[in-house]
Amino acid sequence: MSICIKDQIQNMNLVIGCTVGCPYCYARNNTRRYHIIDDFEKPQFFQGKLRMMEKKKPQNFLLTGMSDLSGWHEEWREEVFKKIAENPQHQFLFLTKRPDLLSFETNLDNAWFGVTVTRKSELWRIDALRSNVRAKHYHVTFEPLFDDPGKVDLTGIDWIVVGTMTGAKSRTVKTDSGWVYSLTEQAHELNIPVFWKEDLVPIMGEEMIQEMPDAFNKVLEEQRIWNNQKSK
Ligand code: SF4
Repeated sequence: MSICIKDQIQNMNLVIGCTVGCPYCYARNNTRRYHIIDDFEKPQFFQGKLRMMEKKKPQNFLLTGMSDLSGWHEEWREEVFKKIAENPQHQFLFLTKRPDLLSFETNLDNAWFGVTVTRKSELWRIDALRSNVRAKHYHVTFEPLFDDPGKVDLTGIDWIVVGTMTGAKSRTVKTDSGWVYSLTEQAHELNIPVFWKEDLVPIMGEEMIQEMPDAFNKVLEEQRIWNNQKSK
């Protein structure tokens, strides 16, 4: 049985909009379909949503579900980091495809910075992340995986996620199980937890590997305790 990553890590879309231009971007399609903002290529900061971070019940949050960290203005980032520091009960994840545009340092304990890698030619993003974002926690999302990334330098990476193409294009783009096993073995050699996204079930079968970092598991355990107390 597989678990859905969206049940473990919730989206908090503080910024909507992105200029990276991925052809498969669901955020751009949804933004246009539901007219969430006027122009997806001009990211907007929804400052009022920062209040969501004040809730005491711990949660794992992805803050870049409809944006890319490289498109955030520096003052937005600083305001968000300040709020993250004030709310250590949560864990916060960021993703970017353009780590070459970033340059900052943070000592936040509960912030995780990651890059998306979809093919071998994008492995440079992992090096750029480690050198341009000087932080305590790193992760890499290999999704959708279009080719074999081969040997990957995962030094200093704390978590990897692997996924495949979803939606209409999933009929033509297939992730190979061998690529997934290879990444998993390389990560496990370094004791890095690996999470196969639920979309991989048709490729990998029901025996899924779905590991999370201890800090995320702790949040989920505290959530369960919180929910049990509430139901009494
Ligand atoms: S980086 Fe993310 S938000 Fe930006 S276009 Fe690509 S998929 Fe969409």
